[in-house]
Amino acid sequence: MSDDFERTRAGSKELFEKAGLRLPGGLNGELRAADPFPLFIDRAEGARKWDVDGNEYIDYSMGSAALMLGHAHPAIVDAIVRQAPRGTLYSALTALEVEWASLISELYPSASQIRFTGSGTEANILAFRLARAATGREKILRFEGHFHGWGDDTSVGIKLPFDEPHTHGILPAVDAASVLCPADATSAAAALAANPNIAAIVLEPSGASWGTVPIPENFLEDLRRLADERGALLIFDEVITGFRWSPGGAQALSGVTPDITTLAKNLTGGLPGGAVAGGSELMRLLDPAVEYKGKRAGVFHRGTFNANPLSAAAGITALGIFKTGEPQRRADAMAARLREGMNRALLRREIAGVAYGPSSTCHIYLGPVQRPGTIDGLAAAELKSISPKTVAALQRALRVRGVDLMSYTGGVTSAAHTEADIDKTIEVFDEAVGELAESGVVERL
Ligand code: PLP
Repeated sequence: MSDDFERTRAGSKELFEKAGLRLPGGLNGELRAADPFPLFIDRAEGARKWDVDGNEYIDYSMGSAALMLGHAHPAIVDAIVRQAPRGTLYSALTALEVEWASLISELYPSASQIRFTGSGTEANILAFRLARAATGREKILRFEGHFHGWGDDTSVGIKLPFDEPHTHGILPAVDAASVLCPADATSAAAALAANPNIAAIVLEPSGASWGTVPIPENFLEDLRRLADERGALLIFDEVITGFRWSPGGAQALSGVTPDITTLAKNLTGGLPGGAVAGGSELMRLLDPAVEYKGKRAGVFHRGTFNANPLSAAAGITALGIFKTGEPQRRADAMAARLREGMNRALLRREIAGVAYGPSSTCHIYLGPVQRPGTIDGLAAAELKSISPKTVAALQRALRVRGVDLMSYTGGVTSAAHTEADIDKTIEVFDEAVGELAESGVVERL
């Protein structure tokens, strides 16, 4: 299979060699690395994408989970095509951003006001700045393995070992401003008690890495209570869960209201952008007409591409469709079908592992489980430490058969995935894990 991979993807291989001359590692982001080389994509439509060699893939990356409606959705394309000739960047206000913000407020009652940013990472950077300014405190309580972008503030703790910096170039004082603990209420309560200087608690309400490590039951409720008791703000990073978990994200599903929500990905219908949303009292710290502790604005924020008209036009269109709840129902049903089919395949082949995940996600754990068909009892570190060799082998065995995952061993569905796509993926998965079991990469029961 491996030779076949290289032979049928000669165009990607050649481009990767060229890319290495001008792009560090041939990449623009470490998550895009792949074994033996990444695919170069030529075009995409619905749930499919095609590489430069003409190979077709059923896509479970879907723009790193930003494309709940599928690639090149006609309404999104139309919105972009209608806006582009009118100008793509004015660096001035537009009626579009007012409409876009109103739509967000309608779906997220915690969001009376919205400030648009250039990305999800930027949204989190601004959210922390706001929380620090509002509370006069310095630290942020974060949970091991929870990802909030590539900003300095949220670097330490995203990779194992959680207590060691995983990159050079970050000031120790910045790492020290994160208080990290496991994602459970007892640990969070202890961390808050030991650190009165915590401005905010932030988490992925899906659990770490879009649900690879689920959160305990009632965790969101517990955090809301703890935040209130300690005078800290609660931030939901809904960059993945926003619009995906439900039209109103994880907060609408759980009924727990954060003080600040950060959004990106589906917010823009898959174009670049992000947003911070919150109550007016907090958000007015961004208003340059309002003095806050001797400064106007109390919290400084700029950005050339904030609320750019292309992203706004696509975002308004996407939110109008998300509002119906129909794309979420469809994507959830496809993911449930996928998880069930993968679990049948694992069971039939007597391979140790399980497919799991909430909403429109599918995560695959490969290794012994305690209770068949579940991840019950598996620790966060176990769920996050499938060996890189196994991860690469699974990704490649699927890719050579025309299925592309998002990252690690998981992927997301969209409203564009069909039953036929899912059934084909289950067949491919069955064959791929069969091959991995034969070569001893995955364990038999
Ligand atoms: N927060 C979460 C939960 C994410 O999954 C991501 C990206 O995957 C980010 C923040 C960062 O968003 P962006 O890549 O738009 O900077």
